[in-house]
Amino acid sequence: MSRQIDQLWSSILENIKKEVNGNSYATWFKTIKPAKIDGATLTIQVPSQFFYEWLETHYSDVLNRAIMYELGPSAKLLYSVIIDSSIQSMQLPSMKKTAPKAKALSNINERFTFDSFVEGDCNKFAKAASMTVAKSPGGTTFNPLLVYGGVGLGKTHLIQAIGNLALLQGLVNRVMYVDSERFTMDFIDSIQKNKTTEFSSQYRTVDLLIVDDIQFFSNKERTQDEFFHTFNALHNKGKQIVLSSDRPPKELNGIEERLISRFQWGLVVDIQSPDLETRQAILQKKAEENGLELPVEIFQFIAANITSNIRELEGALIRLLAYASLNGEDITLDLAKRLLKDVCLPQMRAISIEFIQKTAADYFGFPDDMMRAKTRKKEIAQARQIAMYLCKKLTDNSLKTIGLHFGGRDHTTVIHALTTVEHMLKNDAKVQDQVDAIKNKIEIAQL
Ligand code: ADP
Ligand code: MG
Repeated sequence: MSRQIDQLWSSILENIKKEVNGNSYATWFKTIKPAKIDGATLTIQVPSQFFYEWLETHYSDVLNRAIMYELGPSAKLLYSVIIDSSIQSMQLPSMKKTAPKAKALSNINERFTFDSFVEGDCNKFAKAASMTVAKSPGGTTFNPLLVYGGVGLGKTHLIQAIGNLALLQGLVNRVMYVDSERFTMDFIDSIQKNKTTEFSSQYRTVDLLIVDDIQFFSNKERTQDEFFHTFNALHNKGKQIVLSSDRPPKELNGIEERLISRFQWGLVVDIQSPDLETRQAILQKKAEENGLELPVEIFQFIAANITSNIRELEGALIRLLAYASLNGEDITLDLAKRLLKDVCLPQMRAISIEFIQKTAADYFGFPDDMMRAKTRKKEIAQARQIAMYLCKKLTDNSLKTIGLHFGGRDHTTVIHALTTVEHMLKNDAKVQDQVDAIKNKIEIAQL
């Protein structure tokens, strides 16, 4: 029995793995334990109420789909939630409503909507174009619409939002979302099973076809040929095609010229990396969507330190939430710093001496050239020592280099500053506060 359920669960996990990214998989699914199987009802054990809610809001589709795949259409999911880390547990149902057939067909994640998509300068144009298409699929010159941009910048979210809105408004009956790899695999499969006619008609009878990550069509000649004909069939009938790619069409190597030219028939729009304000707005939105109120410094800190892409940004917030929930800790700036250290450290190292000098001078309220000036006025001398101390702690510079930046002072002056500040930190609460405050400012403001 227990082997059976473990087997079942690992098959389910295999399915889930294909649908969610690695980070989410590790955070949310690895912690689940299969508890009981009773007919077609599977009970899974999750570590807290928070996990239950998170899984239900974000992954109930994925979970239910994977479970139905293994146990058939009558499959049911129950959660058993561990309370206060005792064995005692609470049973909760999956709230999943059975989705209407048309939606189930479309493969679209209902979470990806325009409402949940935060607009910034980086994606304004792409979003406007997408909304235009969603409100009039096949009815504009934006056919195909091709959205391109780097990884984790919101392409999949945006192109699925088109499908969601068009369905919601009843403008289309059949929507098909597929990524190019899935399209390729299904096509190969249909060749092997002698079912290419079925394959073709499945794609050529939709009202809206969304194909994600078309760069993976590269060098797959037969698949490209099939897709070429699919494209033509739909376009001729005035059906909408939406595509995404990680680069502009011209740079798609290994893709036939006739396809590349078609990709440019309609509108090509890009998504850029988000700026600081947009990153912070996205985090706040994500927290809000999950009913979480966090101190604004936390958003600032994450947004300032995770600049690569939105998926990473989201991942950082999720890691923080999951950790706090599992360990019963409050979410504080300190916890955020501790937890995100690995991710943030490389950027923190890049803090410059000039930046520290400026931040400290601002904090104490005098011009930053005082950091380099000869004056020995007590307040200024102490601020200068604190700045030297922070330069040693937050940068990789040598004592000699630090001294040079502080008006050509000797390394022994820097050593003296370090011991003085360390002594004050042990004995003077005011200095502790000052140092903490400046450090926070540096870490937050840093890009
Ligand atoms: P891509 O397909 O470009 O790699 P995704 O669409 O998968 O990126 O986006 C990664 C994650 O970031 C998703 O969870 C998505 O919801 C989120 N995301 C991206 N852009 C935005 C945005 N502008 N507003 C809100 N969430 C976003
Ligand atoms: Mg994507």
